[in-house]
Amino acid sequence: MSEPGPRGTLVTPTEDRGPMSTRSPAEVVAAVVRPEIRALSAYAVADARGLIKLDAMENPFTLPEAVRTKIASIVRDVPINRYPDGGARAVKAALRSTLSLPDSAGLVLGNGSDELIQILTLAVARPGATMLAPDPSFVMYRANALLAGMRFVGVPLTERFALDVEAMRAAIERDRPALIFLAYPNNPTGNLFAEEGIVDILRRAPGLVVVDEAYYAFAEASFLPRLGAFPNLVVLRTVSKIGMAGLRLGYAVAAPEWTKELDKVRAPYNLNALTQAVAPLLLAERELLAGQAATLKAERARLHAVLTALPGVEAFRTQTNFVLARVPDAPRWFDALRQAGILVKNLHGWHRLLEHCLRITVGTPAENDALVAALKSLC
Ligand code: PMP
Repeated sequence: MSEPGPRGTLVTPTEDRGPMSTRSPAEVVAAVVRPEIRALSAYAVADARGLIKLDAMENPFTLPEAVRTKIASIVRDVPINRYPDGGARAVKAALRSTLSLPDSAGLVLGNGSDELIQILTLAVARPGATMLAPDPSFVMYRANALLAGMRFVGVPLTERFALDVEAMRAAIERDRPALIFLAYPNNPTGNLFAEEGIVDILRRAPGLVVVDEAYYAFAEASFLPRLGAFPNLVVLRTVSKIGMAGLRLGYAVAAPEWTKELDKVRAPYNLNALTQAVAPLLLAERELLAGQAATLKAERARLHAVLTALPGVEAFRTQTNFVLARVPDAPRWFDALRQAGILVKNLHGWHRLLEHCLRITVGTPAENDALVAALKSLC
């Protein structure tokens, strides 16, 4: 246990054990690193080498040759010896035109939307502040609350993964959260919460409400057109699910009063030069991206139908590029799929509502054929 000494200096029991040179790194870590961080595990990424990768909601399509050639010629001339543009102006301009954003909307960019979740959290994390989110939802909300020293309140979804509006209202009244995260559609359940429920939360919340639209490209609804209607709304998005996960680019859209503050929390050069050079080129490939999203939506419907027809399997409705399915024995199915060369995400043990659930990312038609064959052989 460490205690703050005079003027915040660290007084630790290890100091009784002689000079620093006699101590082990583990001893010093135990004395200095915050206990809640020592209790965490780093975000686990499965080794997918040699497997069909259906575990992380990536877009499965590689880029056409002509686009690769354009990327190569642009990347060749990037001045890697210089810091990138701190304002990432080319990326912002590309996003503004792709999204038809009004000039009045503010935009902040992040190294993936993961970084923006951290920036949003740090901006409001005064001592004693609360973050609220439905549960189960994206795990990084809770992790960032913990890292920033915020209290986290998870409000259970209903058995069918809908927002429990009454419970959300009660939690807002009781906990007065500075920050609410709503994944829309939700990960890992895949469904879109009812719009009226979110509007109710936006009206009642005393603080910021982030509508996280990571899966917007596969969903029928968005809160982007309603930005002007709520002073406490931030819409968060990423290009990760539409074919650019490797670039690490996320964006938050909100009133400029918000984005001005968020920009102060952001590290000065958080978007690297290669991402800034390549993202505008790919964002301009609108037909390519829209065509891939349309294929993935059609494949999603096919997978959903196949899963639903399997004995003992329930596939949940989804507006994302993945399907959540409850199977008879998730650990056994996960292992059998892996044996068949397919990596999915086993959510069994994550949450009471996710018992025996697998989360399966929609792949290319050929990958999905392999998945369907493997699933059928399991039954
Ligand atoms: N929000 C949600 C709801 C997600 O599911 C994810 C990725 N799994 C992210 C944010 C983070 O995406 P990225 O950092 O790749 O932009």
